[in-house]
Amino acid sequence: MDIWMNSVEDLIELIKTKKIKPNELQRYYLKRLYIIDEKVKAFIHLTTQKEHLRSEGFLTGIPFALKDNIMALGGQTTAASKILWNYRSTYDATVVEHLKNEGALLIGKTNMDEFSMGSTTEHSAFFPTKNPWDLERIPGGSSGGSAVAVATGMVPFALGSDTGGSIRLPASYCGVVGYKPSYSLISRYGLVAFASSMDQIGPITRSVRDAALITNVISRKCRYDVTKRNTQKDYLKNIEEPVNSFRVACIRETIDDDCDPLILKLFEEAVLQLQWMGIQTDYINLKQYRDAYPVYTIISSAEASSNLARYDGILYGLKVKPTVKTNPIQKTREVGFGPEVKRRILLGTFNLSHQRYEDYYRHALLLRGTLTQQFEAIFKSYDAIISPVSKKTPGKIGDKTDIKTMNQYDSNTVLANLAGLPAISVPMGFVGTTPVGLQFMASKFEDDKLLRLARAYEKTAGFHEDGSYPAPHIEGIEDV
Ligand code: GLN
Repeated sequence: MDIWMNSVEDLIELIKTKKIKPNELQRYYLKRLYIIDEKVKAFIHLTTQKEHLRSEGFLTGIPFALKDNIMALGGQTTAASKILWNYRSTYDATVVEHLKNEGALLIGKTNMDEFSMGSTTEHSAFFPTKNPWDLERIPGGSSGGSAVAVATGMVPFALGSDTGGSIRLPASYCGVVGYKPSYSLISRYGLVAFASSMDQIGPITRSVRDAALITNVISRKCRYDVTKRNTQKDYLKNIEEPVNSFRVACIRETIDDDCDPLILKLFEEAVLQLQWMGIQTDYINLKQYRDAYPVYTIISSAEASSNLARYDGILYGLKVKPTVKTNPIQKTREVGFGPEVKRRILLGTFNLSHQRYEDYYRHALLLRGTLTQQFEAIFKSYDAIISPVSKKTPGKIGDKTDIKTMNQYDSNTVLANLAGLPAISVPMGFVGTTPVGLQFMASKFEDDKLLRLARAYEKTAGFHEDGSYPAPHIEGIEDV
């Protein structure tokens, strides 16, 4: 087996037993990165870590990548926007600090949709990232670069952020594991804000166990994020415990007519698989499902319009010089933001305006509350909910993404963000050339239960004899 196919857990063992030295491992991954990234374009820039690696941590020498909306000293944080193209990180995000304290080595910042707004990684101000399974297709977004970096073995793990599915969707389309923890479990200090009531940082990994292991590190204390829950759990401890007493619900609306029939077929096989594992599965209805995507759109764009007001060409990043005729703030924002970001700022500002506030923004908040209560009721009878991560397979790069397509990409993932639930994407199979994922959701703060179920599924889903996922073959790249 090639080194890069190892999980983080296995790499830790290789280093501990001195089968490989930390600096050899770094050189190995960097070499892969230089060769492969030219084909897939997952990285915006590489980073140089100024401090010495901690040698006593349990992640010593393990390389990782960060979505470029998470701050890390030693380089830029652009959020893939022109408006932050020259912004240098002024501190380490809490998650980065925790990883560095364990000796992990940051090697690069990954591409994304500008300010995390999108599902394809095409809305980056720099370039689109390609799906390694099919270079003509999108890798999913917005954390597309991080998912591609892990799927191609340029790093053994990466972090992304998820406001409406941005970790789970690209993980699903790239054939890796993507986990969005419960809201409040991970510090957001040092994350470029999109919609603060839904943003969460989470890991993208090659196994569910690795997702738990990285969460053990990044969920540690933060002094700066007041929304962070400061209780510590070991997510690996009970991950192998049996799940055969679990009851799982499938929401019918997540597999309705909008869902690709081939995704549906794989989903039905996954349900049989869970039944075979001794799990009880029931189909249920969720009336509020229909409201979820519009509610997500209204709330996320409202919060974005307020969060993005800080980019005025005075404090951060791009500054466009004023002329007699132009206002410098207006000009900077006009030049600095891409069309998708402008669309959301306009929509958000409009829905927060006096005449729309009651009917749209407040109404959306009420519906969000009802949806959250509905989930609480479901979790009184069920341990988890499953669905396809997305109703659609990844489109071609350059395809037009209209509202219907966006709805198909995101409507199954936004549910967890609106209700603050933990959710994870685990590879479920292939449709044509590209993989798709199975989504598990659990009750808020029952992340350990979620990971346990996802792990049990992963073990029996049988992709590879050794439990690992298949690897993409990139044309022109043989042995690296
Ligand atoms: N695709 C969704 C959007 O465009 C979600 C993005 C995200 O999770 N950051 O808003």
